[in-house]
Amino acid sequence: MIKKLFIPGPVDVHPDVLQAMATPMIGHRMPEYAVLHGRVKAGLKCLLATEKPVFLATSSAFGVMEGAVRNLVGSRCVNFCNGAFSDKWHDVTVRCGKEADAVKAEWGKPITPEMVDAALATGRYDSMTLIHNETSTGVMSPLPEIAAVLGNYPDVVSIIDTVSSMSAFSIPVDELGIDCCIFGVQKAFALPPGLAVFTASERALDRAKSVEGRGYYFDFLEFEANDAKDNTPSTPCISQIYALDKQLERMFAEGLERRWERHRQMAEYVRGWVAERGYGFFADEPYRSVTLTCAVNSRGTDLASLKKMLGGRGFAFDDGYGKIKGKTFRIPHMGDMQLADLGEFLAVTDECLGELG
Ligand SMILES: *Cc1c(COP(=O)(O)O)cnc(C)c1O
Repeated sequence: MIKKLFIPGPVDVHPDVLQAMATPMIGHRMPEYAVLHGRVKAGLKCLLATEKPVFLATSSAFGVMEGAVRNLVGSRCVNFCNGAFSDKWHDVTVRCGKEADAVKAEWGKPITPEMVDAALATGRYDSMTLIHNETSTGVMSPLPEIAAVLGNYPDVVSIIDTVSSMSAFSIPVDELGIDCCIFGVQKAFALPPGLAVFTASERALDRAKSVEGRGYYFDFLEFEANDAKDNTPSTPCISQIYALDKQLERMFAEGLERRWERHRQMAEYVRGWVAERGYGFFADEPYRSVTLTCAVNSRGTDLASLKKMLGGRGFAFDDGYGKIKGKTFRIPHMGDMQLADLGEFLAVTDECLGELG
């Protein structure tokens, strides 16, 4: 049975976007590809509110998250960690042979501007990583306030993951001064997985020039050289770029502000349901994510059984991630999801909860 996805990524893909993936193939060194690439790039620059180069990488988000570390970490990196993905990014940084420290907040808590300031004020770091929206815990850290702090440290290259927030929330990359903004497309962007997008400021590209061991596949300077020809260093996932082109068209047709507002309304609706059913929230206000709600299983619901029951009724349900599996569950409200989809899902969830007793 094909299940309707209520997991925080991958999320359901609109039929028009799936259809775009069936466009007949072209060669990436043919002029037709440069036209497609150029159009997608222009759309992304508008969406990200950036004049900086925007690159397309054929990989999941972690490919570029690793690539960014290899290109942009010179002497020492600070990884801000408050959940499974940010903890892993620290591990990846160390595995790349970089000097790095993890500054940790408890899972469920945000990274605060004060934490960032305290770490950078030591003068030990030339780079930092941060996950804007920790998908494992449903926590959205206050990016504008953190960006204001980063403004005081012009020698620190900022690498920010917006995998589960880009397009659902206003993230004006240039205004925030983000040096490298990274996202995969299977979450907030609602595309099939396998494509990642990233930006690089002049500061980022200058840093890359001075860093050894960038490798080839994710070498930012290779991306920069090919970008001038609206192209990529190696063969890109052309079908997915057709899908991204279609999805950008759909996003602009909806309107970005309306898209942000839809996410805000869906978040409010799901939070209302969680509170009414007597569950808790893993994140405190005002740090609850607009793209997913992480509920605390304070009623002691048998989440494994609930997942099975929902599966039988055609819905994929998420019973928590990593070390908080079973203690929490996550309800996504991202991508192209509408309030009506959530209404249907939560009504069936209520039926299942009734049967579970
Ligand atoms: C899912 C996710 C990732 C990992 O993405 P992959 O595409 O699986 O590499 C990284 N960061 C965040 C915030 C995520 O939600």
